[in-house]
Amino acid sequence: MRIDLTAHLTENLRRVRERMAAACARAGRAASSVRLVAVTKYAELEWVRVLLQLGLRDLGESRPRQLLARAAELNGDVRWHLIGHLQRNKVAPLLPRAALIHSVDSFRLLERIDRLAAEAALQPRVLLEVNVSGEASKNGFVAAELLDHGSQLVSYRHVQIAGLMTMAPLVDDPELARPSFRGLRELRDRLVAQTDGCLSLSELSMGMSGDLEIGIEEGATLVRVGGRLFDGLETSPSVSHESNHA
Ligand SMILES: *Cc1c(COP(=O)(O)O)cnc(C)c1O
Repeated sequence: MRIDLTAHLTENLRRVRERMAAACARAGRAASSVRLVAVTKYAELEWVRVLLQLGLRDLGESRPRQLLARAAELNGDVRWHLIGHLQRNKVAPLLPRAALIHSVDSFRLLERIDRLAAEAALQPRVLLEVNVSGEASKNGFVAAELLDHGSQLVSYRHVQIAGLMTMAPLVDDPELARPSFRGLRELRDRLVAQTDGCLSLSELSMGMSGDLEIGIEEGATLVRVGGRLFDGLETSPSVSHESNHA
């Protein structure tokens, strides 16, 4: 079982990396310019251990509680990425653990992170989540909100705003993600110009299992891949339960 699991994950990982490399080649980008974040929110801990053995270091979780639990269990050389909504009361325990918070979706949250970072003498790196497609059901800043508050964005002393993140609309055709991803890159370029380069916003987190090629073609530096890495594996009921309610 153990050997099968390793072989399985090795093959899935190889396929994902191959897709990433092909997209980089098409876009004329260096393969090293895009980092794979393995989204482990629905993965069993055992699978995550195998991914670590296979050399992955960037792991993404959507729930702060599960991120913290796993960080405690897998203490080692892991860069933890929070990719889901962060409640303001979870900021303090998360800050020392998260290498990058992709999902900062309001100025209130940004201010809280900055204040708690000051108290803890930390310089957390974050991305601003942008609702590019403007769907009412989605979290995130709308573009105008950020463009109107450029001076506020450069005023934070402790939190490091490293870039932007978006989720494409959930549709079958990956090509339909392109306008959102392109929109995120263009918004980044406008914000950098508007703040006279005070913000460099070098990270763009966009692209998942189904549309990572489109993300890379439009400039992603981080792709967040869950499902495709774990194709063919089945979670035990206890993990599904944890994922739904943690
Ligand atoms: C679950 C999730 C992913 C991974 O999606 P897959 O389609 O499983 O690759 C990426 N980003 C966010 C924010 C997620 O919640």
